[in-house]
Amino acid sequence: MNIAIAGAGLAGRVLALNLLQSGEHTITFFEKDSKEGVSAAGFTAAGMLAPYAELETAESVIFELGKRSIELWPALLKEIGLFDGYQQKGTVITAHPQDMGELEHFIGMLQRKVDAAQSIETLDKTQIGALEPDLAMHQKGFFIPEEGVVDAQRFMAFSVNYFDRMEHVTFREYTPVERLEPKKVYTKEGVETFDWVFDTRGLGAKEHFKELRGVRGEVLWVEANDIDISRPTRLMHPRYKLYVVPRGNGCEGIDLEYCADCKLSQTTGYKRYLIGATEIESEDTSPISVRSSMELLSALYTLHPNFGEARVVNSETNCRPAFKDNLPRIENEEGLTRINGLYRHGYLLSPAIVEKALNEGIRRVQ
Ligand SMILES: Cc1cc2nc3c(=O)[nH]c(=O)nc-3n(C[C@H](O)[C@H](O)[C@H](O)COP(=O)(O)OP(=O)(O)OC[C@H]3O[C@@H](n4cnc5c(N)ncnc54)[C@H](O)[C@@H]3O)c2cc1C
Repeated sequence: MNIAIAGAGLAGRVLALNLLQSGEHTITFFEKDSKEGVSAAGFTAAGMLAPYAELETAESVIFELGKRSIELWPALLKEIGLFDGYQQKGTVITAHPQDMGELEHFIGMLQRKVDAAQSIETLDKTQIGALEPDLAMHQKGFFIPEEGVVDAQRFMAFSVNYFDRMEHVTFREYTPVERLEPKKVYTKEGVETFDWVFDTRGLGAKEHFKELRGVRGEVLWVEANDIDISRPTRLMHPRYKLYVVPRGNGCEGIDLEYCADCKLSQTTGYKRYLIGATEIESEDTSPISVRSSMELLSALYTLHPNFGEARVVNSETNCRPAFKDNLPRIENEEGLTRINGLYRHGYLLSPAIVEKALNEGIRRVQ
């Protein structure tokens, strides 16, 4: 089939990787910006695969789809040659003694929502130190063994390299799609016809999904040379929740041409961490505010004082595409499939949502 994908962000890329598996399709991406995807929410994301921790605000369907995505991610990443861009070593969650009641309440709520959350382990100071020696100052915490993380920025970069090598893939950069119909893509150059069209424009699909909204998220990147944390770590706090995601010590494996936009310094010997993320009901994508920076950084400093000497090397802001119920949506008709509303769960959900969308749509008619 001759297939068009409108929007080469996270969902569009995961979709293309799935479609290419059969070796039967040619794919044309229509992307309003560059093919590197630096304006996609998928480029800003932490990439955490946290079906348990997300249960606080999510429905159990997110949990089930998330667990399925965790099964699917390793093969997708292997396909694009990103062998070290996936980790499933679990998540550590801790809190300061005065906030421990809130953390215990949070874990209890997860355990009431799904039986599988009984696998969450309580950690004392010694057990925290055994998992993450640099966090041994914390008296108590919890460990969610099955959670993981995708290196989101390297997924975006490696997938571009992969698509560039595929003779069946064409990238139409800087080509905004104005409107989609079954089998038809409208751009300012006119209308083009395909056997099937996919709409993965995220927030850019408001022309069709009137109730779609953006939820602003801000992240900071820091580099530190005297603290070593190996797993995604969350700090429960009454006013703002923090996560710290280790990102290795540089842009190993990324062609610097693709990395130039992330503005990260190439300092060696430092460990790099992504700190996130705010969640603000706004579609403003202007740079991170002073307030958000102070909240994220003060929480980071209380996670470990050695972060006080870390260097802030980057900040990113983007908007998560969400519907009112914050649940993902698939719309299927013959010749047109739309996937949207991935909200704060794009990495957690996209492999499973894409699998579901293909089974309900194009694969059913083939
Ligand atoms: C700060 C932050 C942290 C996050 N952390 C996580 C996390 O840890 N775990 C997780 O699971 N999720 C996370 N997410 C959520 C995740 O990034 C999103 O759910 C996901 O990126 C949405 O995927 P998408 O493909 O629908 O949209 P996007 O990734 O935004 O891609 C949409 C693409 O469509 C293009 N486009 C838009 N309009 C048009 C048009 N008219 N024509 C052509 N192209 C168009 C855009 O340029 C873009 O490339 C985070 C998001 C943010 C902002």
